[in-house]
Amino acid sequence: MQQLQVRSENRTLYDHASAAEFNDHRWQDKNSVARFKQLEALLEGLIAPSLLDEIGAGLSKVGMSIRLTPYIMSLIDWRNADTDPIRRQFLPMLSEQEADHPCLAVDSLGERETSPVPSLVHRYPDKVLFLVTSVCPVYCQYCTRSYAVGQDTLLVQKDHVTSARNWEAAFDYIRAHPEIEDIVISGGDVARLKPANIRLLGNTLLEIEHVRRLRFATKALSVQPMKFLSDDDWFQAIVEVVEYGRSMFKDVCVHTHFNHPNEITPLVEQAMRRLHNEGVYVRNQAVLLRGVNDDTDTLIKLFRGLGRMNIHPYYVYLCDMVMGTEHFRVPLSTAQELEKTVRGTTAGFNTPLFVVDAPGGGGKRDVHSAEFQEVEFGISGFRSPAVDPLRMYHYFDPLRSLGQAAREAWKMPGSKDQIMAKLGYQSRTATAVA
Ligand code: SF4
Repeated sequence: MQQLQVRSENRTLYDHASAAEFNDHRWQDKNSVARFKQLEALLEGLIAPSLLDEIGAGLSKVGMSIRLTPYIMSLIDWRNADTDPIRRQFLPMLSEQEADHPCLAVDSLGERETSPVPSLVHRYPDKVLFLVTSVCPVYCQYCTRSYAVGQDTLLVQKDHVTSARNWEAAFDYIRAHPEIEDIVISGGDVARLKPANIRLLGNTLLEIEHVRRLRFATKALSVQPMKFLSDDDWFQAIVEVVEYGRSMFKDVCVHTHFNHPNEITPLVEQAMRRLHNEGVYVRNQAVLLRGVNDDTDTLIKLFRGLGRMNIHPYYVYLCDMVMGTEHFRVPLSTAQELEKTVRGTTAGFNTPLFVVDAPGGGGKRDVHSAEFQEVEFGISGFRSPAVDPLRMYHYFDPLRSLGQAAREAWKMPGSKDQIMAKLGYQSRTATAVA
């Protein structure tokens, strides 16, 4: 059987720290890189000054601030930093950025439009997204929720929608809506919540009779796995909520976020062994990112690696149409081809669904379910009858994938209205399609 190549972190950058320190979540938090000056001090002499300049210049053009744990810094191959798939996710370089497609937006999924009370997004009838914090152990440059997560950047001033002051109103809203069965507790990242708040959220929500399922969303498994090994109180809080849910015949699980097989390390295995021993079920939601995982070999290694960690590959998302992320995006047709190639290489239950989170709030749509795909201008249309039976949700391929004439047309002022009108595409269809 083919062996998975598991990389350990290379601790050269942190050889002054003992193993006990490095494996402690508090030391990781305290030594995280959150400012360019810290990055410069750490990498001086290790990478070319021009590369640091590239990163510094790139940071002035993006919607996400930076934050990297020492652990994730140690997974980056700094000798090949310009192409390293982990560096690319967390540290922008000016030369790899591309001018945004005019249809990119700060809140591309329209979450703020479907928020009945602050901190809650209610789109599907039986499910809500509960945004409980705006901070994460790391900041991903392609974050969908860049409108609210992380520090302000020159490009984006953040909304402050995740305050704990909003929680009571959110609980009341959920209590008043018996159709809500499913709650994603996210943000931000629940790894940044105090154990008492994990318990408060979990227990309060489970005690609402009609709530059947909770999912705690955290990327810490892939970027700070020691959180699950050294923060016993936090770990126990998660386990207690899972057990409380189990005692009520309700489902509580963890959703996490790995994008590349290099993120699967011996420490991840230790963390997963601990979760697995406690009967905590973990699903993965990956994002398809150009230059990170947009090739078949990488994806197959990722899904096999996750399967061996007992992490269930659940979704692969096309990168959302978020401002500042054009260089990460691939055309819909690439996602379709990758899905076809990947499916069948491992068991069906170990193969994720490749989806477009339909811009404007249509929810997850199978990449193969487009109603149409227009090639010249790179426009596809998706329907989402459970959300809005009369609406067509459009996804737009990255400009780089189009011919020159189409690229020029998109750059003209008012291009969206003109191109959509010329092609006869409307957001609202005349009638619901049966
Ligand atoms: S961990 Fe999730 S919420 Fe946090 S920056 Fe990354 S994608 Fe955004």
